[in-house]
Amino acid sequence: MGYRYETVADHDATLEDAAELADRGLKWLVAEGIVRDGPGHPPGERWYLAVGPADLEPGGTLEIMPLRAVFDGGPRRDPSYAVCPHCAGHLVLDGIGRYTEQVAWELVEEAIDTWHDTGRAALACPHCGRDADLTAWAWDGDYFAFACLGFTFRDWPPLDGGFVEEFARVLGGHRVTVVAGRY
Ligand SMILES: [Zn+2]
Repeated sequence: MGYRYETVADHDATLEDAAELADRGLKWLVAEGIVRDGPGHPPGERWYLAVGPADLEPGGTLEIMPLRAVFDGGPRRDPSYAVCPHCAGHLVLDGIGRYTEQVAWELVEEAIDTWHDTGRAALACPHCGRDADLTAWAWDGDYFAFACLGFTFRDWPPLDGGFVEEFARVLGGHRVTVVAGRY
């Protein structure tokens, strides 16, 4: 059957402060009654504060990853493009742009491997020709987030935008992306 998930990825967390931020975020979620303390952090009695008004009670868990991780939308690899942070040009990923699908994905995967190993990687833009930090590219459907901290809500209804904003404030006003996927 598989499951769906949404990860709130914190772009401003670093390897150094990720554990402290993970703790701060979890404490707030528990204090608000959104999740419970304990194994798997199941939904708390006020889970509804994190989702839309008509949504059903979540059945899942919360997993916190305070380490360098590639958060993605699952194995389907279906984003059509990435957007260059310099010129807003598209790196087309589905084979109708400058590169074939295979070549485009090879470039992306190579940059991802480098980022995973070193925390820094450049991806060259086919339009303006400039290198841009992998983490600064935007992805079709918010398919990827490269971050040092992620909170993954598994088998929860879609997270409410207002909740995500508030949670980002708790994390120090950090920039966050919600990556949704299915396994
Ligand atoms: Zn560009």
